[in-house]
Parts: sequence; structure tokens; C-alpha cells
Amino acid sequence: MERAGPSTSRRWFLKGAALAAVPYALLPDARAGAQDQAVDYPGAEWQQASRSNYTASDRPASYPLDCVIIHVTQETYAKTLAIFQNPEKKVTAHYLVRSADGHVAQCVREADIAWHAGDWDYNTRSIGIEHEGWVDRPAYFTDALYEQSAKLTAAICTKYGIPKDRDHIIGHYEVPGTDHTDPGRHWDWRRYMKLVAVG
Ligand SMILES: [Zn+2]
Repeated sequence: MERAGPSTSRRWFLKGAALAAVPYALLPDARAGAQDQAVDYPGAEWQQASRSNYTASDRPASYPLDCVIIHVTQETYAKTLAIFQNPEKKVTAHYLVRSADGHVAQCVREADIAWHAGDWDYNTRSIGIEHEGWVDRPAYFTDALYEQSAKLTAAICTKYGIPKDRDHIIGHYEVPGTDHTDPGRHWDWRRYMKLVAVG
């Protein structure tokens, strides 16, 4: 299913303007070509999710964005990408951060509504960030994962005017009515929020 025309046109226009301001040589792997033009966060790798696994939208025009939701995958990085690309799974997040090196993949455009919170209202209001790992295996929460994720969250908050505090940067477990526990008790919120504050 294609996105509505007007929003697509506007996004392409904005992306073009943004790219024009950046010296070509500084772009991450410019040779990778057209796919990289889709990312909202510079440096992210575009890994398109199945269009069956999110709702096309035109945020923040359609829904104001007021929170970032932090998840842990309970799967490997590769398997999580495969799940997002499987139209049967009905789940996605906007971003996925890899444990070993903090590499960021973008799977759903920020304008679109990813299905990660298990709650429609929270899905419409949020950007979802998945982190490779397991809630009971803290070794997956590496320095690189914290640092790169915090930079991503800081950039999202700045872009949409979302306060960089724990009322607006929440864990999946804080979504009302959820039975999910992620990111779990080993996630170092104090450390994470300090990193977000310095961007
Ligand atoms: Zn979650």
C-alpha cells in the first residue's frame, strides 16, 4: 500500500533540502544509494519493515508525538529484522539498535505508526526503539548500545519538542495495561537519561 500523495511529496522535499545542506562526502555510505534516502536519522541503515506491520500516517501533522518508548527485543538483531519484515507478525518499531556496536537500523518512517506499544493511543504518540538483547541478560546492554540509542532518542526529542525526561522517555512496561516488562530491571535508566541529556 502506498502512502498518501501529499505527505510523500512533502517528505521528499524536506529530505532533499536536508541533504543539500550536508557535504556529500560526509553522508554515511552514500554509494549505498536510494535506500539510504529513506532514513529520518542520519547514520541509520534503512531496513524496510513489511507494510502489513505498521500504519501509514503523516505524523506529527496527524498525531502529535510526545514520547519515546524503550524496548528490548528478546531476539537477536537479525531475527528482529526478519520479524519486522514478515507480514504475518504484525509488529514493528521505528528503530532497532544492535548490541555489539550500537548500529542503528530504521525500519518504519517516523511519520508512520509502528506497532510496538500494544496500545493504539501510545503507538500514535510515540517513536519506538528496540534494543537487541534480553531483559535477563544485561551483558547485551553495552556501552555502544546505550550511547548510540541515547543519541537517537535525544535527536528525536529535539526534533519533535519532546521533553528529555522520564515522563516522556518511557519503558514498554510503563504503557498502561501492558504485560511486557522490557527493558527490564537491568536497564540503567539513570545512565541512559544522562546520556540523552548531553545528546
Ligand atoms: Zn517492548
